Amino acid sequence: MATIIDGKAIAARVRGEVAAEAAALREKGITPGLAVILVGDDPASRVYVNNKKKACAEAGIYSEEIALPADTTQDELLALIASLNSRSDINGILCQLPLPSHIDDKAVISAISPLKDVDAFHAANVGHIMIGDYTFLPCTPAGVMELLHSAGITAAGKSCVVIGRSNIVGKPMAMLLLHENGTVTVCHSKTANLKQICQGADILVAAVGKAKFVTADMVKPGAAVIDVGMNRDENGKLCGDVDFAGVEPVAGWITPVPGGVGPMTIAMLLKNTILAAKHQNALLIK
Ligand code: NAP
Repeated sequence: MATIIDGKAIAARVRGEVAAEAAALREKGITPGLAVILVGDDPASRVYVNNKKKACAEAGIYSEEIALPADTTQDELLALIASLNSRSDINGILCQLPLPSHIDDKAVISAISPLKDVDAFHAANVGHIMIGDYTFLPCTPAGVMELLHSAGITAAGKSCVVIGRSNIVGKPMAMLLLHENGTVTVCHSKTANLKQICQGADILVAAVGKAKFVTADMVKPGAAVIDVGMNRDENGKLCGDVDFAGVEPVAGWITPVPGGVGPMTIAMLLKNTILAAKHQNALLIK
């Protein structure tokens, strides 16, 4: 039976560390601040934004929600971002994706100052990650690395397989495993022999977006299986990309959904906001 990696508990520990750092910054007269922009009324985005605001309040981070109507123009959104870029009380800026289809995600991401880009989606930050010289790491892949570290799992010399190649999860995930000396294979919808490739993985990260996609016959006995997916099953219940019931007896470690990667994403966002505040106040030596 696999050891279950408890993302809720690990995220709580990280959030406690963040709260201590926020308190230390406040003693220096610096209150870390995060602006969260929500355009439109997507219900899932509303839940994510509420969770982020609550987590900020608990950690002693000032948060400001800017909720805009769905018909907000791209120019209006870019003007708002420019004003947030220039505010000294706002250290991090996050624009909740997806945006309405008339707005170009890329234009919005590239308008956020790289120093305030706590999602680490800006091309400048992606480049920094690529060369291993970064301030921010994207929240979800960074959360996965924290889960692995907390469980005492090292990537060095291991076969690491990432299923998914999105800019926000799969690609940066592969890069972080590579930085830690894993031998990394990235799979996607055109990959031939996916099952065989997965069977060779010591660390298998699923970021596909398909319920119960990873089945027991794809998993090497004893492997660490990290489930990034957030899907709804046939009964509308939250589930991951991994068939947990089938894989858990085979794997060495496994993350549950809910309670695995999800809580880590917000914890890492808080961590990035602290880093941004330190950086902007010249308290971070790189
Ligand atoms: P995405 O942009 O839709 O990317 C999905 C990836 O899976 C793509 O690279 C796609 O390949 C690949 N894929 C699809 N079908 C496949 C197949 N049959 N075989 C192999 N690969 C296949 O999704 P995402 O944004 O990376 O998110 C992935 C999942 O993680 C979603 O469930 C999302 O909700 C979840 N998520 C969770 C968190 C969290 O905090 N826990 C954060 C972000 C995302 P192609 O590139 O070839 O199309």
